[in-house]
Parts: sequence; structure tokens; C-alpha cells
Amino acid sequence: MAVPIRTCAGCGRKAPRIELLRFAAVNGVLKAVPESRGRGAYTCALAPCFERALSAKSFSRALRTAVRVDPALRDLYTDADG
Ligand SMILES: [Zn+2]
Repeated sequence: MAVPIRTCAGCGRKAPRIELLRFAAVNGVLKAVPESRGRGAYTCALAPCFERALSAKSFSRALRTAVRVDPALRDLYTDADG
């Protein structure tokens, strides 16, 4: 059974697609989109990965287009502390 492997845009970890959050560019804005046509960007469900992907502009790089990232997307993530 082939499980698609994707790479976290934050830490670079490779993981089964189902373990990662998927994003896509919607009208130039980064949106959490489980499935869509075209390019997706993936991260682990951990806040540090989001922060790192954000600061390194990894979302724009992964999607090959400039995207605006709403910091509220951070709410999708689990904090690593605790
Ligand atoms: Zn990660």
C-alpha cells in the first residue's frame, strides 16, 4: 500500500501525507486546504514548524508563488511545549 510521502516546509521532515497539514494558495493567501488541485505545501502539525516555515518563507517557495500568511493559521497547530 503506497502512502504518499510529503516534506514539512518547516523542519524538512518527510512524513506520510496524512500526518501533515496541507496548504494551498487561494487568491494569493495561504489557506489550509486538505485537498485541491495544483501545488500544496505541507507542515507537521506543530507550531514550531509553522513558525519556521513562515520565517523562512517556505510556503511561498513550496507553492512557487508569493503567498500572504495569516498568523491566525497558527491556531491549527499544536504547541510543542507541555
Ligand atoms: Zn515539521
